[in-house]
Amino acid sequence: MSAATYDVIIVGAGIVGAACADECARQGMRVRVVDQEMVGGGATAAGMGHIVVMDDSEAQFALTRYSQRLWQELRSELPDDVEYEQCGTIWVAADDEEMDEVRRKQLCYSLREVPVEVLTAADLECLEPNLRGGMAGGLLVPEDGVLYPPCAARFLMERARARGASLDLGIPVAEIGKGRVRLANGTEFSAGTIVNAAGAASPALTAGIDVKKRKGHLVITDRYPGFVRHQLVELGYLKSAHSSTTDSVAFNVQPRKTGQVLIGSSRQYGVESRDVDHAIVSRMLERAQEYMPALAHTTAIRVWTGFRAATPDKLPLIGAWPQDSTLYLATGHEGLGITTSLASARLLVDQLTGRRSAIPTEPYLPSRAATLEHAHA
Ligand SMILES: Cc1cc2nc3c(=O)[nH]c(=O)nc-3n(C[C@H](O)[C@H](O)[C@H](O)COP(=O)(O)OP(=O)(O)OC[C@H]3O[C@@H](n4cnc5c(N)ncnc54)[C@H](O)[C@@H]3O)c2cc1C
Repeated sequence: MSAATYDVIIVGAGIVGAACADECARQGMRVRVVDQEMVGGGATAAGMGHIVVMDDSEAQFALTRYSQRLWQELRSELPDDVEYEQCGTIWVAADDEEMDEVRRKQLCYSLREVPVEVLTAADLECLEPNLRGGMAGGLLVPEDGVLYPPCAARFLMERARARGASLDLGIPVAEIGKGRVRLANGTEFSAGTIVNAAGAASPALTAGIDVKKRKGHLVITDRYPGFVRHQLVELGYLKSAHSSTTDSVAFNVQPRKTGQVLIGSSRQYGVESRDVDHAIVSRMLERAQEYMPALAHTTAIRVWTGFRAATPDKLPLIGAWPQDSTLYLATGHEGLGITTSLASARLLVDQLTGRRSAIPTEPYLPSRAATLEHAHA
């Protein structure tokens, strides 16, 4: 019997795979999605859901801003359980040195037409009374938002299915390539294009992808409506996110629509275990309480871990895999895959259809890895 044939088979039903399925189906492609677990059950379920514009590089800025705009366009269609809220981010400056970074960021965002507002110490106290006194100020980015990632992934997948995509859950994919997908139960499908959207597990299916697991922890509290009103991130977060060797923690808290406070975050390389690391959680909570002492009087109800898919240059891999003309990647989104899922899907489908892209695709092409290696040789 010959294998069932599709235009596109997507491995992984996280937020990136779901967004790709939705966009492919919107273009009229015959799409099948396969996941070994459930929709949005991987890093997507573990993520914080901060929809944030970041400026570590021009390419990161372009992708995060483009995707944020796509989330804003989608806003009126999102069901209530996605809990999308444009609460804004405040980058908190603890001292004058960090205020210099506020001013650098203000210039950078303003030049690129992202609204921002520099906050004085008094503004900060008024907007976020639970922050400790004595902070230097901050930068408000009002168009940033938050959402609940697993429900966002489910919404995208349901829309893809309504557009004709089919979905297999609970079945691991054993092998992909050369236009074929073999499931662990022996079933085979064939397709003109296969998309590896397996997140931190993507290198297990495509040897040679330079993606490493980067473990993170999050803690959620009981309900304290109004305790925090914006996503609050310490400017030192950037040092934590950039560190490529040591374990790091940074103050990063988020107001949930439920009144809960989501507390992050940690970053660890070289850890395979999903278990909660109590030493890291203690460090994370200590850091959070340095910024918000009143957190000490809240009750944490759950802590969990997840694995980000990290690339060496901190940009995702979106596009053709040079060693197999049927294989495309949509992986390596590290700590920004919720934000950048919609734009990633657009860029992938632009490449599949020859459609003109809204932003340059080159910085995210998987072939850049070869170029980087060459440059460093
Ligand atoms: C602690 C933490 C906080 C974060 N905070 C944010 C944030 O605030 N904002 C933001 O934008 N991003 C954030 N992220 C990052 C974000 O969660 C990820 O980038 C995003 O979820 C990646 O989505 P994905 O679809 O690529 O991967 P995943 O959600 O991991 O999906 C991959 C899917 O592939 C499936 N799969 C893997 N191997 C196989 C196989 N062999 N066969 C079949 N299926 C397979 C898995 O079951 C899984 O469902 C955070 C991540 C963590 C860990």
